[in-house]
Amino acid sequence: VARTAFPKATHAQTRAHNAALVLRALYDLGPISRADIARLTGLTRTSVGELVSDLERDGLAIDAGRGPSTGGKQPTLVALNADARTIIAVDLSERTFTAALANLRGELTTRRQRDLDGRDGDDAVALVHELIDDVRREATSPILGIGVGTPGIVDQEGTVRWAVGLDWQDLPLATILEERHGLPTVVANDSRAAAFATYLFDGEDRPHNLIAIKVGRGVGAGLILRDQLFGGDGDGAGEIGHVVVDPDGIECHCGRFGCLETVASTPAILRDAAAAGSQATTIDDLARASADGDDRVLPVVRAAGRAIGSAIANLTGTLDVRQISILGTVTALGDPLFDAIRDEARRRALGPLAREVRILDGGRGEDVVLLGSCALLLTRELGLTVHR
Ligand SMILES: [Zn+2]
Repeated sequence: VARTAFPKATHAQTRAHNAALVLRALYDLGPISRADIARLTGLTRTSVGELVSDLERDGLAIDAGRGPSTGGKQPTLVALNADARTIIAVDLSERTFTAALANLRGELTTRRQRDLDGRDGDDAVALVHELIDDVRREATSPILGIGVGTPGIVDQEGTVRWAVGLDWQDLPLATILEERHGLPTVVANDSRAAAFATYLFDGEDRPHNLIAIKVGRGVGAGLILRDQLFGGDGDGAGEIGHVVVDPDGIECHCGRFGCLETVASTPAILRDAAAAGSQATTIDDLARASADGDDRVLPVVRAAGRAIGSAIANLTGTLDVRQISILGTVTALGDPLFDAIRDEARRRALGPLAREVRILDGGRGEDVVLLGSCALLLTRELGLTVHR
């Protein structure tokens, strides 16, 4: 019999692994007795006792009174103290950057915003630092780390390969933030963070596959395939905003012509509506005008909807994912937009596939990038999966 070539885990590694198991039991099932933790994790009651004491010393576990007796005396219960750590969550997906504080359950508290006002490059990075400093001052427990959702292609290390609108290229944002703020940092694509949050908070019958398409200042999709965020070979999966949908279209920030963003992003919709004679300056104005049947506005809204629907047909034709959530400010446009999206997605996809696809209005999702960034940090730092 060949001897195993694997090195044995060190004592410290085993202990860290076991501590994570106990923490997860508290997170998912607490308040819970030590005996039940031992039963569920397969650890001895002595180990569980020691690990719970460690977590209590760190403030992560708290006494939660006594549970029902199962014959003997009533067991003491332990629970996770969700407020023992603070997460800084940052959303860079719109023209107004947002930072918030969250506890370990992803409950958002303090929130600060700053307008980008046309800033990009290093000036935009400086704004991110300011926002983090702002919210950090309000924290009342030790900070676990920073989670950031940003537009653009972002690699596993948190380097922004390219964020067109912010003029960031090969910007090692996670490293920059870690060094400046001295905290573990996760940086992810905003649509991917949004997809992760949508998936986690989808409730009881959570689908295994899901696509969340965020349409606001930019357009991007986040893909959950078989319960995992899918990044692709180059971390660019879901970057549908800069796929050309109209070769005769107008020039995009990225240098090409007729990208999906030049037709379906909120700045593009407002621009086209203005060109058609509308006075609307916000998506909410436009929503009112289109609800009133303003025939200068409706064709613009429908054109945006058709472009999004066509992108969906391509995605569902390739992946056969049946749940599509549309999120972001654009959803304020309501039925005229969604009717056009659904008609076009159905028209362009193969009948049997198209019939099964559900295109849902995920709402403005103002918090969805913050929640997703927060959830990604929790997963990485503590191995915990946020659920509600
Ligand atoms: Zn483009």
